[in-house]
Amino acid sequence: MELKPGLSALVTGGASGIGKALSLALGKNGVFVTIVDLFEDRGEEVALLVEKQNKAFHPDRNEPSSLFIKCDVTSRTFPRCYPLTQTEFPRLLEDIQCFSAQEWMAAAFDKHLETFGGLDICINSAGISSHVPFQKDKTDGKDSWRRVIDVNFLAVVDSTHLAIQAMRSQKKTGVIINLASSAGLYPMQIDPIYSGSKGGVVMFTRSLASLKSEGIRINTLCPEFVHTEMGSKVNSKLVSLLGGYIPMEMVVNGAFELIRDSSKAGSCLWVTNRRGLEYWPSDAETKKFKVKSLNSKGRYSYKLPSKIEKPDAFDKIVVHTFDHNFRRATKIVRERLRSPIKSDHILVKILYAGVNASDVNFSSGRYFKDKNPPLDAGFEGVGVVVEVGDLVDHLRVGAPVALMLFGCYAEFMMVPSKHVMPVPRPDPEVLAMLTSGLTASIALETAGKMVSGEIVLVTAAAGGTGQFAVQLAKLAGNKVVATCGGEKKAALLKSLGVDRVIDYRKEDIKSALRKEFPEGVNIIYESVGGDMFHTCVNALAIYGRLIVIGMVSQYQGEHGWKPLNYSGLCEKILAKSQTVAGFFLLHYAKLWKEHLDRLFDLYSSGKLKVAVDPKKFLGISSVADAVEYLHSGESLGKVVVCIDPSFTQPSAKL
Ligand code: NAP
Repeated sequence: MELKPGLSALVTGGASGIGKALSLALGKNGVFVTIVDLFEDRGEEVALLVEKQNKAFHPDRNEPSSLFIKCDVTSRTFPRCYPLTQTEFPRLLEDIQCFSAQEWMAAAFDKHLETFGGLDICINSAGISSHVPFQKDKTDGKDSWRRVIDVNFLAVVDSTHLAIQAMRSQKKTGVIINLASSAGLYPMQIDPIYSGSKGGVVMFTRSLASLKSEGIRINTLCPEFVHTEMGSKVNSKLVSLLGGYIPMEMVVNGAFELIRDSSKAGSCLWVTNRRGLEYWPSDAETKKFKVKSLNSKGRYSYKLPSKIEKPDAFDKIVVHTFDHNFRRATKIVRERLRSPIKSDHILVKILYAGVNASDVNFSSGRYFKDKNPPLDAGFEGVGVVVEVGDLVDHLRVGAPVALMLFGCYAEFMMVPSKHVMPVPRPDPEVLAMLTSGLTASIALETAGKMVSGEIVLVTAAAGGTGQFAVQLAKLAGNKVVATCGGEKKAALLKSLGVDRVIDYRKEDIKSALRKEFPEGVNIIYESVGGDMFHTCVNALAIYGRLIVIGMVSQYQGEHGWKPLNYSGLCEKILAKSQTVAGFFLLHYAKLWKEHLDRLFDLYSSGKLKVAVDPKKFLGISSVADAVEYLHSGESLGKVVVCIDPSFTQPSAKL
């Protein structure tokens, strides 16, 4: 998740220590923050500071961008009661009176959702240490250790539960970080109750890792001693034995790494001075106790083929002369399979290759300044590993993988192992998530700065990438308008939840937009170009962002792609503080893995659908037909070529 203005976070224990530092750091990134704490003065002060930081990002916002809610984290829906003596009963009544319904945790979450319209991040930081040593406690723990377990463990369980409910109700992705401690990883003799409660947080949180399939990432952060009010009570000799206090900045960096990197879903990050940021337990340690998942027979399990034939030679598509007409530019070439394989390489058998509008830009040489034919064509494929080099230890024969490299219109590919992405299944739906899905996911987040509550327009919306853009915009809580040509496409878009479908074969896009969205739309995911681009610029609201994804209507002209003039564009976007942003997926390779995981999680939890065009293209000889079909404008969803129709696998749906 990119930390960006407009996200919202709820932080328990946000009035001081680590909770305060994290609240302020989130505020610095323009994130709306609710601070939940018992201490009113300090909490109000932090909320005020966050509000000030937020001003720079949201100058026109009239509603608050930060809230303080006075609340005992142990009061989920009612102040918690213990068995009481006669003298304690009046005290409990006093407690109940001093907490109004607003101050219970469930109400704090409700207030947050009501104010900010969603919950993206929940950080459970409230924690206390024992003030009476366990061995000397004569009170049966009523005033000491029961309270520590209540605040440090039960309240974290309650708050996590509330956060999951909130995130599920919005059908959005979210991150929960539970603050434990290194005392939750290793015993701490000076405070066994603290250590036990934090150990509980670690195991509770790690046990919820599978929530990532719903797009909810839950992690534990385990700092050693930090110089906070609680940390300063610790024996200074013990602190120096551990290398001194950890800088707060390091804890913040750790939390932000967990927020940003979705591949870390479910992990536990140990923050120490001696070892830095270290994920715990290590992969090697995890392997020792890992058993097969109970769900391994589930919807997305993939049975590794026991044997894969390795022929002496294979077919591939090569651009032999630059031409915007893909069929004229390409031919099928037979190549020998080299042996032995290089030590850091992998041999992949491609099962499905993805067809993209830009295949014709590749064949026309538009992507290259200094390369000449012959060039291997095709941008993406999914398949299985056939052979691995001696130095490759993270992939085995039969494993399903994805490739996003030039040359995927081929029966086999020999590639450096660092370019291979393991995937759950080598099927057409996963293939569609590569170029098409990633473009929508990354472009809307980066160039579109998409949050929620806005109007998002998607052109060519029933195509390979458009179908992802409409759904992601909807999942993020936006109103979605989509353009397409044809009844089948309109029906698909309605089934994907689009609020307003404009079928340009039946109605005029310009008039529909002008009439129904007189204030304009906020984000436009534009991939058609030509007249459509002009229509879109005119339909953009103040502060609107138009993402130039491509210009498919211009790619196939009589003599190839001719650049257009956009006279008056600067004047238009200046007058309305608008942005026209280009987006090219190859520049965002560092985000591919994170976004692919996210797309697959959404898909496997049923929140995201993937439409694959039902027309069958079988074998390498059908690639040119498939490219022409995409450019006919008749395709629906992702166009896919099944490279080896004889390869049987349970996932094939073509
Ligand atoms: P696609 O959307 O599956 O297929 C193209 C669709 O574009 C057609 O079905 C058609 O739908 C529409 N279209 C409008 N005018 C057209 C014309 N004159 N000729 C043919 N089709 C026309 O294709 P895609 O591969 O997903 O690519 C869509 C766009 O995204 C392209 O512009 C492509 O270059 C771009 N893209 C960019 C990136 C990047 O990194 N920037 C990555 C992937 C894709 P309607 O008639 O329903 O509108």
